[in-house]
Amino acid sequence: MTQREFIQYERDDTIGVITLDRVDARNAQHPPFLEELDSAYREAEADSGVKVIVLKANGPHFSAGHDISQGARKYFAEDLTESASGAEKLYAWETENYLGLTRRWRDIPKPTLAAVHGKCIAGGLMLCWPCDLIVASEDAQFSDPVARMGIGGVEYHGHTWELGARKAKEFLFTGQFIDAQEAYRLGMVNRVVPREELVKHTMELAREISQMSSFALRMAKQAVNRTLDNQGQWTAMQAVFDMHHLGHSHSRLVYGDGISGMSVDKMKKSGTGS
Ligand code: ZN
Repeated sequence: MTQREFIQYERDDTIGVITLDRVDARNAQHPPFLEELDSAYREAEADSGVKVIVLKANGPHFSAGHDISQGARKYFAEDLTESASGAEKLYAWETENYLGLTRRWRDIPKPTLAAVHGKCIAGGLMLCWPCDLIVASEDAQFSDPVARMGIGGVEYHGHTWELGARKAKEFLFTGQFIDAQEAYRLGMVNRVVPREELVKHTMELAREISQMSSFALRMAKQAVNRTLDNQGQWTAMQAVFDMHHLGHSHSRLVYGDGISGMSVDKMKKSGTGS
């Protein structure tokens, strides 16, 4: 059994259960966290006894997003903030580890269910959006406040597809949270349940789905995902990802930090954020 520090993985009959477990950092995603999460997905994917995968989180919140703290940066093989690297290193790293992994998880040929509670912020959306179904607890809240850092949104542009164009703009323009009921109304989540029933309800739904033929489930998933791709979802996401990197480069040029950019207050002070 693979030993992991930030992610737990266990089999519950035919359900592969992945648990985010970097509780002290509110499941913020640094490189080892993402590596372990991907390895847990791969383990579930390769196990023919696993028919459905559930993703849930320990701690008070689902995920605080990408870990952009100074402490997390020591895990990067090279300093991605180094101006001498131009845009190349960060672009290559995020292509593989943010957009690439999220896209890979989205197309795992088994149904994936996310159980979301507490706050799910920015990069946190890149953990639940690629799942096929999302069950949210009543206390769940979602936001992408990346515009406050001077960039137009996170690396994986699910917004327009998950919320609809007009709400997606409001979500990005304001950076405000939407709650579970609003997410349900917009079609972003499948079900809203009391916090204490979240895992139980998600596992029951996973078991119900697991009764179906694996191949039928695979084809049903592929049918929807290919339809989205034919509607231009993947092409749009790649284009938005490139624009996201224009934002990183702008932040590096103007504020000297391409990763975390600049807070709205500092932008106002410097007169560059208007
Ligand atoms: Zn980025």
